[in-house]
Amino acid sequence: MSLFKYGKQKLSSLELFTKLSKKYNTCEVCGNQHIGNGEGTLDFDSSSVRAYYKRTCKCGWEEELYFEKVE
Ligand SMILES: [Zn+2]
Repeated sequence: MSLFKYGKQKLSSLELFTKLSKKYNTCEVCGNQHIGNGEGTLDFDSSSVRAYYKRTCKCGWEEELYFEKVE
Protein backbone atom coordinates (compact mmCIF):
# COMPACT_ATOMS: atom_id res chain seq x y z
CA MET A 1 0.00 0.00 0.00
CA SER A 2 1.32 3.42 -0.94
CA LEU A 3 1.68 6.23 1.56
CA PHE A 4 1.62 9.91 0.73
CA LYS A 5 3.12 12.85 2.54
CA TYR A 6 0.55 15.17 4.06
CA GLY A 7 2.31 17.78 6.20
CA LYS A 8 4.19 15.71 8.77
CA GLN A 9 1.85 12.77 8.37
CA LYS A 10 1.99 9.77 6.08
CA LEU A 11 -1.42 8.78 4.83
CA SER A 12 -2.78 6.02 2.63
CA SER A 13 -4.60 7.18 -0.48
CA LEU A 14 -7.94 6.47 1.21
CA GLU A 15 -6.99 8.46 4.32
CA LEU A 16 -5.71 11.27 2.15
CA PHE A 17 -8.86 11.34 0.07
CA THR A 18 -11.07 11.30 3.18
CA LYS A 19 -9.14 14.17 4.75
CA LEU A 20 -9.18 16.29 1.60
CA SER A 21 -12.84 15.61 0.96
CA LYS A 22 -13.72 16.91 4.42
CA LYS A 23 -11.44 19.91 4.18
CA TYR A 24 -12.54 20.98 0.70
CA ASN A 25 -16.13 19.76 0.68
CA THR A 26 -17.45 23.30 0.88
CA CYS A 27 -16.45 26.00 -1.57
CA GLU A 28 -14.45 28.63 0.32
CA VAL A 29 -15.92 31.42 -1.78
CA CYS A 30 -19.65 30.75 -2.18
CA GLY A 31 -20.31 27.86 0.22
CA ASN A 32 -21.56 25.46 -2.46
CA GLN A 33 -21.14 21.82 -1.46
CA HIS A 34 -22.38 20.16 -4.64
CA ILE A 35 -20.37 18.13 -7.12
CA GLY A 36 -21.64 17.26 -10.58
CA ASN A 37 -24.49 18.68 -12.66
CA GLY A 38 -22.39 21.74 -13.48
CA GLU A 39 -22.03 22.69 -9.80
CA GLY A 40 -18.47 21.59 -9.16
CA THR A 41 -15.92 18.91 -9.88
CA LEU A 42 -13.72 16.59 -7.88
CA ASP A 43 -10.70 14.73 -9.22
CA PHE A 44 -8.44 12.40 -7.30
CA ASP A 45 -5.70 10.19 -8.64
CA SER A 46 -3.22 8.31 -6.48
CA SER A 47 -1.97 5.86 -9.11
CA SER A 48 1.11 7.91 -9.98
CA VAL A 49 4.28 8.91 -8.06
CA ARG A 50 2.31 11.91 -6.86
CA ALA A 51 -1.26 11.91 -5.67
CA TYR A 52 -3.40 14.55 -7.32
CA TYR A 53 -6.46 16.24 -5.89
CA LYS A 54 -8.55 18.91 -7.56
CA ARG A 55 -11.80 20.44 -6.44
CA THR A 56 -13.55 23.16 -8.38
CA CYS A 57 -16.76 25.13 -8.00
CA LYS A 58 -18.96 26.79 -10.58
CA CYS A 59 -18.11 30.20 -9.07
CA GLY A 60 -14.50 29.82 -10.18
CA TRP A 61 -12.93 28.66 -6.92
CA GLU A 62 -10.51 25.78 -7.20
CA GLU A 63 -7.96 23.88 -5.17
CA GLU A 64 -5.32 21.83 -6.94
CA LEU A 65 -2.93 19.86 -4.76
CA TYR A 66 -0.16 17.31 -5.16
CA PHE A 67 1.19 14.90 -2.56
CA GLU A 68 4.48 13.06 -2.84
CA LYS A 69 4.52 9.30 -2.46
CA VAL A 70 6.83 8.37 0.40
CA GLU A 71 6.59 4.57 0.47
ZN1 LIG B 1 -18.14 28.45 -5.15
